[in-house]
Amino acid sequence: MSTVERQAKIRMILVNTSHPGNIGGAARAMKNMGLTELYLVQPKEYPAPRAVWRAAGARDLLANARIVESVDEAIKGCGLVVGTSARERRIPWPLINPRECGMKIWQESEHHDIGLLFGREDRGLTNSELHKCHYHVHIPSNPEYSSLNLATAVQVLAYEIRMASLSDAEGVLPAMNDWDQPLATADELESFHEHLAETMEELKFYDPNNPKQLITRMRRLFNRTRMDKMEVSMLRGLLSATRRTRPK
Ligand code: SAH
Repeated sequence: MSTVERQAKIRMILVNTSHPGNIGGAARAMKNMGLTELYLVQPKEYPAPRAVWRAAGARDLLANARIVESVDEAIKGCGLVVGTSARERRIPWPLINPRECGMKIWQESEHHDIGLLFGREDRGLTNSELHKCHYHVHIPSNPEYSSLNLATAVQVLAYEIRMASLSDAEGVLPAMNDWDQPLATADELESFHEHLAETMEELKFYDPNNPKQLITRMRRLFNRTRMDKMEVSMLRGLLSATRRTRPK
């Protein structure tokens, strides 16, 4: 697969952005680094002239940006989803640094679409958005002032993807391990998690009035294993069989 085809599999997804200038800045940062797929989840003010000014020579990227209603819609079909985070969260998630993130994204771009999520300027990504991710990435900034400008964060991560692609062109980036089945996509995982939650509730294993983070921990467990499509359908078969055969 060509470099351009792989670049086109990497979606930079800006969630609920307030300032259109940041959207333009992100488009420019992406184009400078050879990325093309900009997704905007419910931008607060868009289209906007300020986005166009800040995009400078990257207006084509803005014009082609996909505006969608939800994070689920933005990550549909993605085999890898990574969420950015400016700070520590309550429940730790598999965490990678920008360099590892660039390498992983580039390696996997040969096999499936990838979503990299960026949060709101004032409060980042919500927990439920972060819990849809396989990994979180943190730019190791000054702990006393850890939050970068949104477009700057896009720049740093796009640069690392670029560096990984250049290492690959030189033949020094290891390829992703061969696997016999394609990995499950974000939407398949989401349906699996819903099926699991319904089954746990029906079996009275899970009490929605006393959740104790069970659902979050199950999400973390299964997202960490990077299940393939066949593994997901096996587990869904098991859940269906459990529900069918449960004594009434
Ligand atoms: N106050 C917010 C910060 C949001 S900054 C919070 O506490 O989460 C806006 C967005 O820029 C973040 O959601 C993330 O996408 C990106 N960003 C900013 N600083 C970052 C960092 N150090 N590491 C990774 N992403 C960062």
